[in-house]
Amino acid sequence: MSPPPMPVDTSLLPALRADLLAKPRQLFIGGEFVSAVSGETFEVTDPATGAVIGHAASADAADIDLAVKAASRCFESGKWSNMAPAQRARIMLRLADLIEANASRIALTETLDNGMPLMMAFFGGGMGAAEALRYFAGWCTKLNGETFTPSNPGEWHAYTVREPVGVVGAIVPWNFPFVMAVAKLGASLAAGCTVVLKPAEQTPLSAVILAELVAEAGFPEGTINICTGFGKTAGAALVAHPLVDKISFTGSTVTGKSIVHACADSLKRVTLELGGKSPVIIFADADLAKAIPGAAMGIFGNAGQVCAAGSRLFVHESVRDEVLEGISNMARGLVVGNGMDPRTQMGPLVSDVQFARVTGYLESALAEGAQVLVGGGKLDVEGGEGGNFLAPTVLTETRAGMKAVEEEIFGPVLCTMTFGDDDLEAVAAAANDTQYGLSSAIWTNNMSNGLKLAKRLKAGMVRINGGMGGPDPAMPLGGFKQSGWGRENGRQGVEAFTEIKSVTINL
Ligand code: ADP
Ligand code: MG
Repeated sequence: MSPPPMPVDTSLLPALRADLLAKPRQLFIGGEFVSAVSGETFEVTDPATGAVIGHAASADAADIDLAVKAASRCFESGKWSNMAPAQRARIMLRLADLIEANASRIALTETLDNGMPLMMAFFGGGMGAAEALRYFAGWCTKLNGETFTPSNPGEWHAYTVREPVGVVGAIVPWNFPFVMAVAKLGASLAAGCTVVLKPAEQTPLSAVILAELVAEAGFPEGTINICTGFGKTAGAALVAHPLVDKISFTGSTVTGKSIVHACADSLKRVTLELGGKSPVIIFADADLAKAIPGAAMGIFGNAGQVCAAGSRLFVHESVRDEVLEGISNMARGLVVGNGMDPRTQMGPLVSDVQFARVTGYLESALAEGAQVLVGGGKLDVEGGEGGNFLAPTVLTETRAGMKAVEEEIFGPVLCTMTFGDDDLEAVAAAANDTQYGLSSAIWTNNMSNGLKLAKRLKAGMVRINGGMGGPDPAMPLGGFKQSGWGRENGRQGVEAFTEIKSVTINL
């Protein structure tokens, strides 16, 4: 089977590579590109080869202070926050058009930096980000308050207004760098906030393209500031800064908790989109021709580096052998390689650290009695000797209580369990037996059972009978339990960047 036509203009790659090596990427503060105050930069590597592909400015507390002050000045000036909503929407739509026009350059950069397949970087990354931004632009003109009738004596006029929360510190991870950054920007900008964005140190490059496009789109200076740098320095400084009103964080549960601790004294607003250990439940009556590839790509897509990855499979024992064989066949057949190769279906893990983390979980699973059905180790990929390629892996004999079943692995590793009858309470209890509650998938042709189980799952997102595509910007995204606080996307995701003010007038 020949791969689908390549929409990405790959002729841009040589010039892009040369330019990345020729000059380090800078910070974007108050509408200007600047080096870090310290002059420090850090190396950026291609996870498919291990090669250094460029350098980015390493922001520390001094740079974050400048960026936050620029965002704060802009916010207080009202240049963005008090701009007519329709005008704000127009500027955001202009940025979306610029992103779309630059989607090839964004996708090539994302694949170089993160390793994901180029088609994913193009559709899920560049084009997906443009669509998400258009969705959020629509909210500029649609945020509203309510009116009330107080019961106090007298005649009253009482209403609420939604005001932007202020300066937002947006901290994003390395698994979908561009679209995550744009989605957080979109929601905060629609609410009227100004932003300091910190991309992950593993994948800083596409955010710098975003900065260039922001500069072109016509935002007031300081509306959006972008600081590349490390979590422990730039990230922590952003969280600690007194002029930051809200932290919007996507990343690991461990780092999310440390951010909550750091915000305890200031009571800064915090929303968190954290890890998951999401269940995939396949009933005997499911359409297995769809459930098998759905479950496989739910854990092998983006090499399992997906917060909502379906990492715990619960399959009815009557179809267990067929399902596991089907998923294993897909695992064996997946083309794993450099994301730049149009045939590639799964790229490398993002870093040596991540590779060591995932293989550590595999070792612990085996030590606790798990068996490898397929995969289980490093994969030799032609031309990828220095890369972090892990074979898509399916484990059996996995059960509740094992470290690999309890904790988020964030790699292409599926833990598999069975259930014996359709006792929905028991299935739900097994699926809910986790500290997390981000996402879940149900495969059944008995929609009554599907909906009953959807009610019983403690997860922020439920998908029945799969289907293609990532999260829709209109649908709230976030988790129960230790998968986070609050929701992104949808009306709720924009309202999360507002404060409600109630105004009561005695007439
Ligand atoms: P990982 O451990 O896989 O790198 P993290 O959750 O630590 O995942 O990283 C997600 C984002 O959080 C990155 O942008 C990272 O730089 C940032 N980060 C890490 N530690 C901190 C911290 N202490 N304070 C603020 N941001 C942080
Ligand atoms: Mg980290």
